[in-house]
Amino acid sequence: MKVQDIMAHLEAKHPGESEYLQAVREVLESIEEVYNQHPEFEKAKIVERLVEPDRIFTFRVTWVDDKGEVQTNLGYRVQFNAALGAYKGGLRFHKAVNVSMLKFLGFEQIFKNSLTNLPLGGGKGGSDFDPVGKSDAEVMRFCQAFMYELWRNIGPDQDSPAGDVGVGGREIGYLYGAYKKLAREHSTGALTGKSYGWGGSLIRPEATGFGAIYYVERMLKEKKESLKGKKIALSGFGNVAWGAATKATELGAEVVAISGPDGVVEIKGGMDKKMIAYMLDLRASGKNIVEPFAKKFSKVSKFTAGKKAWSVKCDIACPCAFQNELDEKDAKQLIKNGVQYVAEVSNMGCQPGAIAAFQAAGIPFGPGKAVNAGGVATSGLEIAQNAAHYNWTSEEVDAKLHKIMNDIYDMCVQYGKEKDGSINYVKGANIAGFMRVANAMLAQGTI
Ligand code: GLU
Repeated sequence: MKVQDIMAHLEAKHPGESEYLQAVREVLESIEEVYNQHPEFEKAKIVERLVEPDRIFTFRVTWVDDKGEVQTNLGYRVQFNAALGAYKGGLRFHKAVNVSMLKFLGFEQIFKNSLTNLPLGGGKGGSDFDPVGKSDAEVMRFCQAFMYELWRNIGPDQDSPAGDVGVGGREIGYLYGAYKKLAREHSTGALTGKSYGWGGSLIRPEATGFGAIYYVERMLKEKKESLKGKKIALSGFGNVAWGAATKATELGAEVVAISGPDGVVEIKGGMDKKMIAYMLDLRASGKNIVEPFAKKFSKVSKFTAGKKAWSVKCDIACPCAFQNELDEKDAKQLIKNGVQYVAEVSNMGCQPGAIAAFQAAGIPFGPGKAVNAGGVATSGLEIAQNAAHYNWTSEEVDAKLHKIMNDIYDMCVQYGKEKDGSINYVKGANIAGFMRVANAMLAQGTI
C-alpha cells in the first residue's frame, strides 16, 4: 500500500470531502509500515475496502415548526464497517453536517470502537437540523420525523446510534419513543445514551469526559506526574467538557477555561461544584453561548469575546467541542505559554499542522479516537446491560470504563513506542485500532 496512491484515488473519487480525506490520510500514514509487513492485507485489499462505507442512507426530514411552517432538513446514516459488530456511533445535529463530515466521523468511529475491545462496528449519522434556539416541541417533532425514516435500519444487532454534538439525553428520548412506536418493539439496544430508568446506563452522560481524564492521567503518569494542581483549558461547555471538568476537578486539577462560539471564559483558581453544575444549565438554555457563566461567577471569571480557550495559559489543553477547532497558530500559542500535554477529546479536534507542532515540540499528544473512546465504550456497556435486562451500579460501570481506558492507553503505548523511547499516541491508536478490524475482515472473507 502506498498512501499517496490511495489518497490520489480517493481525492479524485470524492472531491471536496476534505474532512473525510483528512481522517483517512492520518490513519493510512500511521499504519503504512505495519500494513506493508502483512502481504495478506494487501492481497485482500483491506485498505481499499475499509475506506469506503458499507452504505450511506440519505433522507429528507420534513417537520412543522412552532409557527406552523413546514421545514425540510436532510438526514443521514453512514454505516461504515461492521467487521467487529453491529454499526455503532452517534448522531450529530448541527447546521454544518454533510456527507463528508459524517464519513470522517464514521471512519474514525471504526478505529475508536475497535480500541474499546468491545464488539462494535463503526457508523455515524445526523442532520443539518440546527438545534440552536429551537423549542422543546420543535426538537421533539424533528426527532420523530427523523426516526420515520431511520427506524428500519437500526436495532441492537444492526445499528445502534447514540448522541453526539446537538444530540443529548432529551433527543435520544424522543428518538427512542418514535422508534419504539414504529418498530412495535421495546428494543432498548437500538439506541444508547438513554436516560437511566428505561434502559440507560449510569455514568453514560459522564463517560466521554471521565474516560478522557483517565487517559490524561496515564499520559501524566508516564512522566511521573499527576493531575494535582495542573491547569486545564477545555473548549466547549457541553456534555463532554462537563464530564472532563467534573473528573479533572475531582482529581485535583484546576479547570481554568471553558469556551463557546461566542468566546472564552477564564476561571481563576479553577472550577467548583456549582460552576460545573451550571455548565448543564448553560447547555440546556439552547442558546449556545458561554458568556452567562462569566456574569454568574463574575468574582472569579472573565469573558473575552471572540477568543478561544487556547489563549489561556495552561498545563494541559483539551479540545472538547468540534473538529479542527485547534489550528497550528493556536498550537504555537499554547506551546509559547508552556503547555505540557494535549489530549484531543473532540473527534479530530486538532488540525494536522497543530498535531505536527506539538509532536515537534516533544509535547505528548493524545488523539481523539483513543482519548474520547470512553463514551462509545460505555454505550457498549449500556447495550450489554440492555441485553441482560439488568443494571450495573455507578461503581461497576465506572470501574469497567476505567479498565477499558487503561487498556486503550496500554495498546497505544505498545504500538506507538518509537525507537528513541518516545510515544507516538496517534500512531499507536491507529495501528492498534486497525489490526483488530483488519484481522476480522480477513477472517470473514471478501465481502
Ligand atoms: N458520539 C460519540 C462518539 O463520537 C458516542 C458514540 C456512541 O456512543 O455510540 O464516539
